[in-house]
Amino acid sequence: MRILIIEDEAKLAQVLHKGLKENGYIADWAEDGELGLHMAREGNYAAIILDVMLPKMDGFEVLRELRKAGSTVPIMMLTARSGVDDRVLGLDLGADDYLPKPFDFKELLARLRAVTRRPAVELRNVLKVADLELDLRTREVRRGGEIISLTAKELVLLEYLMSRKGLALTRAMILENVWATEDAYDGGSNLVEVYINFLRKKIDQGHPVKLIQTLRGVGYSMHEPA
Ligand code: CA
Repeated sequence: MRILIIEDEAKLAQVLHKGLKENGYIADWAEDGELGLHMAREGNYAAIILDVMLPKMDGFEVLRELRKAGSTVPIMMLTARSGVDDRVLGLDLGADDYLPKPFDFKELLARLRAVTRRPAVELRNVLKVADLELDLRTREVRRGGEIISLTAKELVLLEYLMSRKGLALTRAMILENVWATEDAYDGGSNLVEVYINFLRKKIDQGHPVKLIQTLRGVGYSMHEPA
């Protein structure tokens, strides 16, 4: 699996490069945004690790250009620890995940596995997160084998969360993907929270393991317990 690292800090890039190689990946490195964008367009990458602050062209610009050109390659942004706005902006522009610096290499590997696994998950007929199952053919939802009854909108929201399991989802992403713009909707962002709460009552209430996680200042994630 070939991974592109777009990162201007040589030390960090070397650590990433070495670590990825040791874990069976092939890794290429671009040290500025322009070169990174060029390599991303030319190369066939399974995923891209993309820093935000880069010479010549910043990470958001690289991300925007790739998505504008129709690229669906999974992209993981490296952000400053305090940069909540950066994370939200990155995800809204079409990044698949973010990782605040400094990070643990094991966590990077786990996130990388999650973003590169996504297409295979979408092809399956049954979405699974721990003991929660959604059968895409029958629209039946079960947790621990017991059928859970959901409204049409709750079902669409759950399908979106489950199909992106392990990934961070902003409220804007959820709104855009679950509520079509033509829906009667007044623009209040708490619509997402209200429906997440409905789902939590039906999916997580009474279960010791909670599958729907709140990411403070960012949004939500469907989480597979370790
Ligand atoms: Ca940088």
